[in-house]
Parts: sequence; C-alpha cells; structure tokens
Amino acid sequence: MAENLAGSVFMWLTAEEKTGEKYMNSPIYRCRCLCGREAEVPASALRSGQGGCCGNCVRTLQALCGPEPEVEGMKLACLTLGRPTGKKVRNSPLYTATCSCGAECTVTLSALRCAKAIACPSCQVDLAAKGYGVRK
Ligand SMILES: [Zn+2]
Ligand SMILES: [Zn+2]
Repeated sequence: MAENLAGSVFMWLTAEEKTGEKYMNSPIYRCRCLCGREAEVPASALRSGQGGCCGNCVRTLQALCGPEPEVEGMKLACLTLGRPTGKKVRNSPLYTATCSCGAECTVTLSALRCAKAIACPSCQVDLAAKGYGVRK
C-alpha cells in the first residue's frame, strides 16, 4: 500500500510521517495529538478510528469515568482540566478548563467523557472546520 496519510487528520491526531516500522503489515505513523504529545499509531488503527488520540488523552478519558473524577491538571485534547464548579448542566457536573489558546471555559463532564469537548468554544469551531474531533 503506497497510500500516504501524512498530513491527514484522524479525530485528535495529525499523521506526520511514517516511522518506518510496521504493525501487522500496516505502516506506523508518528502523529501529533491535539494535546501536543506524540503518538505512534499504525495506519490501520487510524483508518478504523481506533487510534484517535495519544495514550495520555486515553488515560484522561479513563480517569473521567468515575462519578466525581479528580482530573485537575490533566490534558484532554486542547484542554487542561480544572476543578468542578459545583454547578450542573442537565445533571452533568460542570468543570473549569483552560484551552491551549489561553481561554478559560467550562465544560460538562458528559461532554468530556464522550470526547465532544476538545477546546474552548471558539477553537472548537476552528478545529471542527479542519476535521478534528470526528471519528472516521
Ligand atoms: Zn493527547
Ligand atoms: Zn481556545
């Protein structure tokens, strides 16, 4: 397969270049996650939508599973998560977060858990226009 995925966006990852390694015959790409970290993901996982973010963001998503998760300081895509505000929106606790652009925002736990909230509202629009955040 001569297909080149470099420059393509897969959920939160941008494929940058082939590492030269393979996983089950699928070339492994070095990717950049929205959170800034690198991840090495086989092309097959990128295309199937299984490898949509780096391992660090996966750990944050796992940490968000508890009823009142303590996630302060953890990164999720462009957001650095803060404390719960004590408020709720549609029964979901509202958390503070700081976007990589520097803007502060609030996001519901449910939006974080389902990986819908990835940045402050204005960055989120820009990222969606570039194709980020969509599971393929
Ligand atoms: Zn990440
Ligand atoms: Zn932002």
